[in-house]
Amino acid sequence: MSYLKYTAREFQRSIRQFEVEKESKCTADNILTDIKVHFLSLIDEPGNAEALTQEHRAKGKIRVDSFLNFHRNKSVVIFSDGSTDYESIGIGSCAAVLLPLLTTEDEILSTEAFCAFTDNIEAEVRGIALALDMAVHYFSFRSPGNVRDKLFILCDCLSAINIVLRHDEVDSHINVSECVRSLLHTLNNLDVDVTLGLIPGHSHIYYNDLVDSNAKTAAKDAYNIPTSGELTTQMCKKLISKQCQSAWQQRWDRSEVARSTYDLLPLVGKKLVFPSDRCCAISYVRLLLNDSALKAHRYKTGLVESRVCECGNGIEDSHHFFFECPIYEHPRHILDSELQLSWEESCNDGNIVIRASTVIFPVPGLSNDNLLCHH
Ligand SMILES: [Zn+2]
Repeated sequence: MSYLKYTAREFQRSIRQFEVEKESKCTADNILTDIKVHFLSLIDEPGNAEALTQEHRAKGKIRVDSFLNFHRNKSVVIFSDGSTDYESIGIGSCAAVLLPLLTTEDEILSTEAFCAFTDNIEAEVRGIALALDMAVHYFSFRSPGNVRDKLFILCDCLSAINIVLRHDEVDSHINVSECVRSLLHTLNNLDVDVTLGLIPGHSHIYYNDLVDSNAKTAAKDAYNIPTSGELTTQMCKKLISKQCQSAWQQRWDRSEVARSTYDLLPLVGKKLVFPSDRCCAISYVRLLLNDSALKAHRYKTGLVESRVCECGNGIEDSHHFFFECPIYEHPRHILDSELQLSWEESCNDGNIVIRASTVIFPVPGLSNDNLLCHH
């Protein structure tokens, strides 16, 4: 990473006076000193937060609400969240709100903004560190009871929770991990059991929304953020990949070739899912490249003498084939109803999934003599 820093001018310029943090491996001490941190998931599919549907979120909200009803004023519950000021890289900030044990005590809200280069996961881990720090303060000023106290920290980022849980894998986010470990030690000495809870984000959970908006404003209001410090390797990788992506996008935007493909796929870096049927996959790619077996395309290469469609109603290009040609009235009708069905099955939430084969061969059997590819 240091090598890259000195060879890639663009990268060096972007990190200004920040130093790349040394890559270090986890020490025997980290592996052997085990501080038990429990994990609790309040959503059904903790593995993939991106795939959470409205239904998952609604269920998650109900679970969080009933969790709060049960644990509030019996254990300390803290909601934490992290934020970066643009996309996933930028000025980091985090916020946490502590719900105290006694009904007579006030809720405590705390925010923090930090170094100008951070990623969203580091910001979330720092949110957990802030929550632990608040808990240390809170429990330090309480007289010890007979039983161990329970602390729940609820956060909507599984990657951040995993960084805290897997203490033997501290090869990344070293600074913040060390800070978390030291706070966990202190809490352990204060007889506090820590549980990290995963909750769904953006699910209208009151305290989650509260820390989310406070973390965002903390980044905006921050005025004395350090302009030098250490950058994690993860952060450097993200910066480099962001730079590559934007250079690639710029070239794609400015290029003068393949404009018909550009009209269909204006954004670079999107992974295409190809149909498993070979014939269908070829047609799909040829459509994306604007080079199918339709007459308009074959005419360009001199394979046919005219671009006019057999129906006599216009030039046989992709638009005519899909939307106008009377010869394909029947398959078009089937396609219409398939699309209608897919839309209804998607619960109108905008996540419609349409298979390429549905569009290209709406009628089973048509693939044998379809017009898009002759191969
Ligand atoms: Zn036609």
